Amino acid sequence: MNAADCIFCKIARGEIPCEKLYEDDDLLAFEDANPAAPVHFLVIPREHIETLDDVEERHKTMLGKMMLVATKIARDKGIGATGYRQVINCRKSGGQVVFHLHLHIMGGRDMRQMG
Ligand code: AMP
Ligand code: ZN
Repeated sequence: MNAADCIFCKIARGEIPCEKLYEDDDLLAFEDANPAAPVHFLVIPREHIETLDDVEERHKTMLGKMMLVATKIARDKGIGATGYRQVINCRKSGGQVVFHLHLHIMGGRDMRQMG
């Protein structure tokens, strides 16, 4: 999958609509289209990185920023105190479906039942 055909690259370029929560030069956050919890949004890098297995040393700052942006949005959505789950699925065994790196943030219910 290259950047031209990638659904999350298309979202980042504004070619496919999303419910945007945050954006800057490096990252974009938007609501998950098929939420698995009352709060479920995604944080993605603008750069097309296929999987967590493809990250490099130069992505270190961006990876930290993804988590911090996610944490701030979770707090703004009122789930900071009750808690939530941040997940990155990596490749087939990790359950990855969209091959553009993304961080899931899920909360608003008891996530311990998810396994
Ligand atoms: P994963 O299994 O980690 O690859 O998860 C992919 C996630 O992307 C799923 O939770 C989908 O609901 C979500 N998703 C797929 N297409 C879109 C889209 N166009 N807008 C928002 N979320 C999407
Ligand atoms: Zn992409």
